Amino acid sequence: MNNQRGILAIISGFSGAGKGTVVEEILKTYDKEYCLSISATTRQPRNGEKHGQHYFFLKKEEFEQRIAEDLFLEHARYIEDYYGTPKDFVFDRLEQGISVILEIEMQGALKVKERCPEALLIFVTPPTAEELERRLRGRGTETDEKIASRLARAAEEVSYMDKYDYIVVNETNKVAECAADIHQIINDEKKKAVYCEGLIGELSEGLSVYKKGE
Ligand code: 5GP
Repeated sequence: MNNQRGILAIISGFSGAGKGTVVEEILKTYDKEYCLSISATTRQPRNGEKHGQHYFFLKKEEFEQRIAEDLFLEHARYIEDYYGTPKDFVFDRLEQGISVILEIEMQGALKVKERCPEALLIFVTPPTAEELERRLRGRGTETDEKIASRLARAAEEVSYMDKYDYIVVNETNKVAECAADIHQIINDEKKKAVYCEGLIGELSEGLSVYKKGE
């Protein structure tokens, strides 16, 4: 059906949960069905990260200017940096019927849910706390201090997991399965009556000729 509004799917998870890899897999496997919102951040690019592809890397003053201009759907501070979702990009795509994935942390996700209650909140987690630490260390991109901050943050986030609509376990070496689970959840969401106004309207028009007594 292409007369539908797109779904706003928010994917969060502890840092190191592997959600970036899962999102990449979703975009690779179901490329026509989704687009990814590219966030702005004040953090330094990691090796191989490109401006405009992974993030829009901004100076703190530039980021604050965009907050003042109300250009973000949400923004949050994560550890010591700002992260924010560009508002117009997201709303334009949804209106065009394209589902948009936001890969954002929890504070931002909950802010979007307040602003757009129809947003679908999906939390990706490793099966255990030990596995989370193993994945964070295995990434080899952060100092011990940063890893400790990210684990401490995860210890806080765990108590808000029940605010999400779905929890999806990203089992070790099962990225494709995790991506397929999320795709399924989003597809099921599309079948909710609230997203089928276009189809209902067409059927109503088509069936109007059969109405009795007019
Ligand atoms: P990282 O520094 O590892 O790329 O991202 C740190 C955290 O910020 C991750 O949980 C990531 O999902 C989140 N994040 C990325 N972009 C945004 C955004 O636009 N808004 C919010 N609230 N969080 C974001």
